[in-house]
Amino acid sequence: AFDVLTIGGGPAGAATAIYAARKGIRTGVAAERFGGQVLDTMAIENFISVQETEGPKLATALEEHVKQYDVDIMNLQRAVELVPASVPGGEHEVRFASGASLKSQTLVLATGARWREMNVPGEAEYRNKGVAYCPHCDGPLFKGKHVAVIGGGNSGVEAAIDLAGIVAHVTLFEFMDELRADAVLQKKLESLPNVDIIKGARTTEINGDGNRVNGLSYEERASGEIKQVALEGVFVQIGLVPNTEWLKDSPVELSERGEIITDARGMTSVPGVFAAGDVTTVPYKQIVIAVGSGATAALGAFDYLIRQ
Ligand code: FAD
Repeated sequence: AFDVLTIGGGPAGAATAIYAARKGIRTGVAAERFGGQVLDTMAIENFISVQETEGPKLATALEEHVKQYDVDIMNLQRAVELVPASVPGGEHEVRFASGASLKSQTLVLATGARWREMNVPGEAEYRNKGVAYCPHCDGPLFKGKHVAVIGGGNSGVEAAIDLAGIVAHVTLFEFMDELRADAVLQKKLESLPNVDIIKGARTTEINGDGNRVNGLSYEERASGEIKQVALEGVFVQIGLVPNTEWLKDSPVELSERGEIITDARGMTSVPGVFAAGDVTTVPYKQIVIAVGSGATAALGAFDYLIRQ
């Protein structure tokens, strides 16, 4: 059994493991895919003190750092159920798809999130080749170019406002006939000279030349007509889905959006169960933030343990 068991091996899980192991307590990490979302990206330019790196490189560095310590790493393990301690201060259990199960006095849930995809032709093919999901991360790579933002909710409209300050031109596409973002954001968006808004539009395909994105096809829903726009980047902003499906039957309290609710020390509604990173309600999903919240959760777990 462990003192601290982290579920998830992204930046948050790696930071948790290092902070816990440095306290000299029994530490484990079980992850479906060690490295997490970082593995799906190329250029990373905002991880403070690392001017520029690539996703797979950072993922390897995270793992190497964790391996400097006495940490049990269990890769390719997908958690399917959390069974909370039956008595206060008792051990929690996590069950895995493989049939294995692990017990620990504290847990740190760091299963991250995934961007909701449009699932249209070209989207997967041109991922990181013009198709992007994170304006804070990839916006500067499109300096001076024409890009699209898909989605007229708060995140889409915020992304369009943000990008309009960096790129040459932004076209925002919304499926419905009205944007869903807050009025103040819509007003700001409409005031920008280099932004077009196309409502009632269903994206049907991301076009490219084999190497990079060069356009987008959409259906004008009112007429059923298919139209095309030439552009060099597409930011998909139709939602971020937390990986909490496996917690649905557990007592861990989730927000309306399915994110794990934590207190300032990273503790969830279940004593001894902590959470960190993109899977939580902590705003702004970024590596540096995930790493920070992983450290918080590990220290929170340690504080909890010494009080038992
Ligand atoms: P994740 O990285 O999502 O890791 C989750 C971990 O949990 C993984 O190991 C996963 O396999 C595991 N897991 C999930 N479900 C289960 C389960 N049921 N059982 C066991 N394990 C499970 N941020 C930046 O700061 N800068 C950037 O440039 C940047 N670029 C990005 C580009 C792309 C394309 C994407 C997708 C994201 C980017 N981000 C960037 C965001 C950043 O990657 C995330 O904020 C960060 O990875 C979150 O870390 P995390 O540890 O909370 O979760």
